[in-house]
Amino acid sequence: MTLDFAALDRRHLWHPFTAMRQWTAEDPLMVASGEGNYLTDTQGHRYLDGISSLWVNVHGHRCAPLDEAIRAQLDQVAHSTLLGLGNLPSAELAAALIAVAPQGLERVFYSDSGSTAVEVALKMAFQYWQHSGHPRRTHFVALDEAYHGDTIGAVSVGGIDLFHRLFHPLLFQTLRVASPHPYRYAGGSLSPEACRDACLAALEALLAARAEEIAALIIEPRVQGAAGIIVHPPGYLRGVAELCRRHQVLLICDEVATGFGRTGELFASQAEGVTPDLMTLAKGLSGGYLPLAATLTTEAIYEAFLDGPERTFFHGHSYTGNPLACAAGLASLRLFAERDLLTQVRARALRAHALLADHLAPLPPVGELRQCGLMIGVELVADRATRHPFPAERRLGAAVCRAARARGVILRPLGDVIVIMPPLSITDDELETIVKALASSIAETVQ
Ligand code: PLP
Repeated sequence: MTLDFAALDRRHLWHPFTAMRQWTAEDPLMVASGEGNYLTDTQGHRYLDGISSLWVNVHGHRCAPLDEAIRAQLDQVAHSTLLGLGNLPSAELAAALIAVAPQGLERVFYSDSGSTAVEVALKMAFQYWQHSGHPRRTHFVALDEAYHGDTIGAVSVGGIDLFHRLFHPLLFQTLRVASPHPYRYAGGSLSPEACRDACLAALEALLAARAEEIAALIIEPRVQGAAGIIVHPPGYLRGVAELCRRHQVLLICDEVATGFGRTGELFASQAEGVTPDLMTLAKGLSGGYLPLAATLTTEAIYEAFLDGPERTFFHGHSYTGNPLACAAGLASLRLFAERDLLTQVRARALRAHALLADHLAPLPPVGELRQCGLMIGVELVADRATRHPFPAERRLGAAVCRAARARGVILRPLGDVIVIMPPLSITDDELETIVKALASSIAETVQ
């Protein structure tokens, strides 16, 4: 007997970020297998994975070296706890991460999702000041439209109204600064440089007035992913880092989305020569295979937790430092070096840039094309001149992605921004397929 998996899904599953009434009314695409940059459904249809399975997959699906690393670790042990015990892959991966992380980061604290990595960073920053003679430094600064995950601390520093508004009574107060988004900031009237400088000036004013109350600033370095692939003007991150340093505010770089090569650097902070005090990693850390996250920090922060049992960092998860996931992470990092992956990503990004210019820029509904490495956002607008959006009820982004799916490409929108974020192993030809499918889907959908 073959099971009707779609029926089981509709009957029993509750999907994340999904309007379930609509989901249960439609036929779900059920992924049965994957190979390289493709996914195959239960009907045997192949699709290009244009969003790298939600921005996680790095080297493609069923990547032999990762598969083998996990199988080899399975022959040793699948899981043992890091509470009171060590294990081999978690120690080896920690050393490997420190070797490639921005210089000055020395310690690795594991968890299991981007959200938990952010919770850890927030709690570490808070506790650090409690032990360092500045107990009033309890607040966090975050950007408008920030997204750092879905747990309560991460939502507190998040700034996406649609996702976060309802939970407001549960959240701690966060200080906000404007996001340097030249297409929308001040009605789009400023150059990227002027937008950057205005945003930095506002941050400087906030820190000058309130630094004594601020524990840390958290930022998605260079690219705000879930906000719609907002690409910050060059120099903004460096400016933020300098202001934080000057006012002794800790800097948390949330590299959950930008980390592991997506922007063309291993970590986005490195493009601006920034070493944060805390850095969060997840998604691509295990090559996109298994849930694994890490919060990296400096020896100075670590040392504030050393003396006295009351200084212990009371935080940990059952699967912290899972050996299978860490083995995958190690194999993935090795592939970055063996395949000279960052050089390839930069070449692919140039190709993508040319394809976007040729096939998408001429389309009237395309308001802005935003790109940083292989993180790409295509914003659709009703009126290019005024940048006026389409009515939200039209759910145009979703309709375009449905049309792309019929062309064999999996994409996912953020409102009316279509995101292209393929595995880093994507080829030039596959990129062309994705961009052309998106162009036809936009033309077909926006009549
Ligand atoms: N931080 C950033 C910048 C993200 O983009 C995400 C997820 O998209 C998260 C945190 C949360 O990660 P997770 O979904 O693994 O909890």
